[in-house]
Amino acid sequence: MAIIGGGVAGLSLAAELAELDGRMVERSGGLRPELRIVLLERENQFAYHSTGRSIAAFSESLGSPEQRALARAAHAILDALGAESGTPLLRARPLVWVAGPDHLGALNDLLTANPSLRVVDPAAAQTLCPALRLEATARAAVERTAQDVDVDALQQQYRDRATAAGAVLRTAVGLESGVWNPARAEWTVTTDRGELTVARIVNAAGAWADAVAARLEVPVAGLTSYRRTVAIAAADGIGPGWPLVVDVANRYYFRPERGGLLICAADETPSPPTDAVAAPQDVSVALERVTAATTLRLERVRTSWAGLRTFAPDRNPILGPDPKQDGFYWFAGLGGTGIQTAPALARLAAAQLLGEPFEIPGLRAEKLLPR
Ligand SMILES: Cc1cc2nc3c(=O)[nH]c(=O)nc-3n(C[C@H](O)[C@H](O)[C@H](O)COP(=O)(O)OP(=O)(O)OC[C@H]3O[C@@H](n4cnc5c(N)ncnc54)[C@H](O)[C@@H]3O)c2cc1C
Repeated sequence: MAIIGGGVAGLSLAAELAELDGRMVERSGGLRPELRIVLLERENQFAYHSTGRSIAAFSESLGSPEQRALARAAHAILDALGAESGTPLLRARPLVWVAGPDHLGALNDLLTANPSLRVVDPAAAQTLCPALRLEATARAAVERTAQDVDVDALQQQYRDRATAAGAVLRTAVGLESGVWNPARAEWTVTTDRGELTVARIVNAAGAWADAVAARLEVPVAGLTSYRRTVAIAAADGIGPGWPLVVDVANRYYFRPERGGLLICAADETPSPPTDAVAAPQDVSVALERVTAATTLRLERVRTSWAGLRTFAPDRNPILGPDPKQDGFYWFAGLGGTGIQTAPALARLAAAQLLGEPFEIPGLRAEKLLPR
């Protein structure tokens, strides 16, 4: 099996697949042959694109019912992985959702999506984040179960586990093309480093997932990538324990970060798959909006970066076998919640690929199938 892409999707799957396969081989008393798993990452390092550029937040209120079910399942998985390795992957950081007077409907929608949110008045929100401007906040809700994710440790743990369980992870090897041989039920895959033969390809190529499908003459999924820019601005008086503050109308978010305040205008600019670069105009908008929402004087922008968030037309992840092409499985379209959903998606994908039963409470997995 070849997994294409070494972001959180590909790495989490390599680990889950190799470990599940190992357990199945053991269960069979060694009668079942071991699965050969090769992950190919085109860049010189893993997690170079979207995975290395997220803001590493974990919230069970985001996205569709499917994404929320996946996040709830992933929470337990990440807690367990952290406890097993002795390196916690999650650290509690409350999330304060703020609504201006015109956006109380959006706050209500959020409360319906996540009934564990606690509504607070602006003054109570201000005790959590003293820089919040009272006049800009009509109502707020606190998400106590929100977390920061240690993304470096997460991808390192998945790499270690995958390798320990026998998967081969390669950087600087890009898939170029491939031909399906129906008689032998196998792909001949051409990379920039040579050819390999595999029975199945998993497409975990992030923003390039449609391009990978096209190179293999598989119908594309209709993914769209959007650039998002994030910056860290210097300011006095930032408390390291402040929450992540998110505007329910999706105009900005901010939280403390080493060196200042991480700010973002929650921008979504359509982009072709590329090595995304921060857009100065999006940094300016973020500065303007966060300044209006707080009493902070945001001074110098210390650093900024951008990454791509890639969505299917219905904005759910795509997970499952391609309906038209044998030997081709999709793990793509992770959008803006890939860090927090990949651990659960990978466990589900590994079970599906190896024919094991596995259910995620509250998830209708058929909603994720490629069409
Ligand atoms: C600014 C920003 C903030 C975000 N914040 C959060 C957050 O707080 N919480 C959250 O859960 N998510 C967040 N996300 C979303 C999250 O980062 C993504 O959903 C996730 O990283 C996608 O992972 P991936 O593995 O699908 O893609 P990627 O990490 O992009 O990995 C895909 C890999 O495939 C490789 N590849 C492509 N083509 C080929 C080929 N032909 N051969 C070999 N390799 C190939 C690429 O080089 C790349 O490394 C954020 C994203 C952005 C941009």
